[in-house]
Amino acid sequence: MKIETQCLHAGYTPGNGDPRVVPIVQSTTYTFDSTAHIAALFDMPTEPIYSRFANPTVDAVEQKIAALEGGVAAMCTTSGQAASLLSILNVCSAGDSFISAGTIYGGTVNLFAVTLKRLGIECIFVDQEATPEELQAVIKPNTRCVFGETLANPALSVLDIRKFADFAHANGIPLIVDNTFPTPILCRPKEFGADVVIHSTTKYMDGHAVQGGGVIVDCGTFPWDNGKFPDFTEPDESYHGVRYVESFGKAAYIIKCRMQLMRDFGCYPSATNAFYLNLGLETLALRMKQYCINAQAVAEYLKSCPEVESVSYPGLADDPYHERAKTYLPDGASGVISFVIKGGRETAMQFMDALKLASNVVHVADIRTCVLHPASETHRQLTDEQLVAAGINAGMIRFSCGLENVEDIIADIRQAFDAIQ
Ligand SMILES: *Cc1c(COP(=O)(O)O)cnc(C)c1O
Repeated sequence: MKIETQCLHAGYTPGNGDPRVVPIVQSTTYTFDSTAHIAALFDMPTEPIYSRFANPTVDAVEQKIAALEGGVAAMCTTSGQAASLLSILNVCSAGDSFISAGTIYGGTVNLFAVTLKRLGIECIFVDQEATPEELQAVIKPNTRCVFGETLANPALSVLDIRKFADFAHANGIPLIVDNTFPTPILCRPKEFGADVVIHSTTKYMDGHAVQGGGVIVDCGTFPWDNGKFPDFTEPDESYHGVRYVESFGKAAYIIKCRMQLMRDFGCYPSATNAFYLNLGLETLALRMKQYCINAQAVAEYLKSCPEVESVSYPGLADDPYHERAKTYLPDGASGVISFVIKGGRETAMQFMDALKLASNVVHVADIRTCVLHPASETHRQLTDEQLVAAGINAGMIRFSCGLENVEDIIADIRQAFDAIQ
């Protein structure tokens, strides 16, 4: 199936007389004929037994997203943050370290630099333009994985996934990529060597601002039995002595993540949330194409405005990431634009207040145009140094193009500039 078809059909194939639409199985538990059957499911979880870590509606969505990313299996979480957290905890324990590109989502910076540090896991931040030699210089014997974001929120830099994958693999560790902004419609990181792909499904995948969630996709590519990951090859005493690689092969990572971490943390979405997410996924391919068209037009318009100091959008011919976008985002650079308004922080806030169609929200990648001021909102917990590392200027506005008629979006921008003159 081509990706547009997968958006509609992957993950759920109704049998004779079954509902056409994936049903909402809003039940915490499941009934079985025998105790022995349940006992067997504890050993080999082939059917849902409890909705803290598995549910049939969520399962259908997981299969769909795994198909879209070209992975072997996926696991949904209650937020993108939970997906980032579990993706790392599945390979790092206290005393370990991992490497992350510095240009990533502000919430992830905080999770990695503050909260994981408190758990004894060190994040080594690197400039994402670092050379392979520079990367090699910071790696430690306890470094367990490498992390980056395909299209960074909100800096909109494009990650050289291939470079990071080659570096990680040369050191026997996996690459985890946050692919939230492009979605698998515009980029499939597995094709460039990523081993695990995560998303905040709160963004384009849902697209309608009705559910918050995340997902972790196991690409099934990483050789966990290379000697560096005993947790994957030795018996798990917390799970009846299961050996993940031996029992689950290519899906070892995601099954370990579900059986250990989801079992213990329980940050699993409800069936109803998964149902909403699935509605968004059904039109994802169609929507992503139009987001790219609208954002390209808006980015070009902003570029022509005397009120604007600079515009970041990899679809612009003179954007520093334009060449790289040709490799990683050949069908378009998604719907988010970052621009720096002349006049700094104050003018940025006045401009945003003057917009009428675009809404001022703590959100991005919605079907409706929305704006956010990273320096005073999402990234306010970052130090000035971290702001610079994340590619953020105090006058920067994150402009998330919606699917309104683009002429209306541009007219709104014009009236807001005029209003604050
Ligand atoms: C929003 C976002 C997250 C966090 O997702 P939540 O669903 O808000 O927890 C992670 N990564 C990126 C790139 C994001 O845009």
